[in-house]
Amino acid sequence: MKVLVFNCGSSTLKFQLVEVSPLGAAGPKTRSLARGLVDRIGENATCSFARGGGEPHREPVAIDDHEQAVEEVLGWLARGWDGAQMELDAVGHRVVHGGDRFRTSVLIDDEVVAALDELSALAPLHNPACVSAIRAARETLGASMPMVAAFDTSFHHTVPDHAATYAIPYELVLRHKIRRYGFHGLAHRYLALRYAELTQRPEDEVDIITLHLGNGCSATAIRGGRSVETSMGFTPLEGLVMGTRSGDLDPAIIGFLSRKERLSVAEVEALLNERSGLLGVSGRSKDMRELLQRAPSDARSRLAVEIFCHRARKYVGAYLAVLGGANALIFSGGIGENSPEVRAQICAGMDWCGLRLDPELNQSRIGTEGLISPATAKLPAYVIPVDEERVIALETERLVVESR
Ligand code: ADP
Repeated sequence: MKVLVFNCGSSTLKFQLVEVSPLGAAGPKTRSLARGLVDRIGENATCSFARGGGEPHREPVAIDDHEQAVEEVLGWLARGWDGAQMELDAVGHRVVHGGDRFRTSVLIDDEVVAALDELSALAPLHNPACVSAIRAARETLGASMPMVAAFDTSFHHTVPDHAATYAIPYELVLRHKIRRYGFHGLAHRYLALRYAELTQRPEDEVDIITLHLGNGCSATAIRGGRSVETSMGFTPLEGLVMGTRSGDLDPAIIGFLSRKERLSVAEVEALLNERSGLLGVSGRSKDMRELLQRAPSDARSRLAVEIFCHRARKYVGAYLAVLGGANALIFSGGIGENSPEVRAQICAGMDWCGLRLDPELNQSRIGTEGLISPATAKLPAYVIPVDEERVIALETERLVVESR
């Protein structure tokens, strides 16, 4: 089955055409046929796309919103940008927030689209773009093309109540559906799946801690292949330090800042989401690469990196306690995949639990997959570049086959 996967960011649309082999077929379960990115939607957009593992073709395009971006991508696939048409059997969409209604991926119909519209209130930065991409794809491809929504929150529905419930008056929890939803679920799910493949163990025997470190960052404790605790919460603001988000902080700081700085609550929230994290502490940049370059000569850049690594290490320790020990620690995301320095700083002093890095292996894994610990380490660490589109394609194929 050929599945087209759409993955919307706030100003980007990633797509990948994935061939999923039928159950029981020999060889790899998925193969990427084409992939691409519409970048900077709204201003000076560019599109790049490549067939298989080929060189990307890049061109500027006038694209104002996600609907136009979807139409453009579908147009290329139908025409073939190099003369060869591409067919598809189903479409899978990444959706950030599934709320408490969507605990698994679903086939999309009118009712699902209406429910997704309602959920936009919970994820105003992300869900509206996904929903307009879904609408555009349904309009262009017609109702007969099966489509699936795969949610970033659904992997975390297995987090037990004692880990997902905030200790606030319980009637408010119920009234407003306040709980730890968790995000980046498709990424963490992929890491569990890929770790199982790499180590040839059944997925339900995977006990790992995953650190997904990009602009947004989150940690997940996975037991038996299922998420049992995760660092992002009711919104993607909680947990690790991120590019512009504070992560954990004393909630009393919100009222304190509101009073002292004469800011509304919405303004404090914006400050915590957009001007905090690596950017806020360093006063320089949200970009880890730049901060690492500045760190030797700039104390605030150095402090930002130190806070980032300390917080991540604290979560690894906490999740070892939650799991009662783990098979492995996995790094992914732009920082996790590409920065040996950050990985080493997070794992420093963790010998007590058997977590050690092999300096040469760690240094050599930049954007590539594999072990970064000595073979004898009791708690080995791995780098696994994330491929959310693969998880979405597999979910899409599963639901479409089940519905036939
Ligand atoms: P997003 O969460 O938006 O998908 P990415 O996963 O692309 O973000 O991660 C972006 C982060 O990765 C940035 O902080 C960037 O500086 C960092 N990064 C990318 N390459 C490197 C590198 N070689 N060393 C350190 N950090 C890097």
